[in-house]
Order: sequence, then structure tokens, then C-alpha cells
Amino acid sequence: MGMTTCEHCEQGIASNVLNCPHCGGYQTALAEEMGLTTCGRCGQGIATDAERCPHCGGSQGEQVGCLGCLFMLVLGASAPFIAWLVFWALLKLLH
Ligand SMILES: [Zn+2]
Ligand SMILES: [Zn+2]
Repeated sequence: MGMTTCEHCEQGIASNVLNCPHCGGYQTALAEEMGLTTCGRCGQGIATDAERCPHCGGSQGEQVGCLGCLFMLVLGASAPFIAWLVFWALLKLLH
């Protein structure tokens, strides 16, 4: 196993270690190189195809899907309201 440098404290660590033994910092670039992604809940490295985080048990696909749905829902629901508000403000300005 090779050695690399910690992203946070710049001390030497093994290239297969994701959490620095010196400062405990998480190696983001190394995780990406290993094809890992970061858990949205605990921030630790997990496989990109993992449905659940092995560290905190957080559901990954579901979480991202729900956030995306929620965002689209909020955007879709507020778009006519924002358009109406802009129209109303323009009318007020003109009069
Ligand atoms: Zn470190
Ligand atoms: Zn997690």
C-alpha cells in the first residue's frame, strides 16, 4: 500500500485510509478516486451504488430522490405565485 498526504493536516497516511489517523479528517479526493461517494447524513465514504450508509444506516437513494422531489414540488408550487407577484408589482409601478 502506498502513502499519501492528509488533505487536512498534511501528515503522511496510508493511501487506502479514508479517515486520517492524525486529525480524523475525511479524505474526499481519495474517496472519489476509490469510486466512493459521501453520505448525505454522516459525511463518511460509502460506495456510490450503496442504498444505505454502512456507518449511520441512512438511506441514500431515497434521501436524494426525496430532496429532488421536494425541490421540484416547491419550485412548481411557487412559480405561478412568483409570476403573479411580479405581475402585480409591475402593475403597481405603472400606476
Ligand atoms: Zn490529517
Ligand atoms: Zn452515513
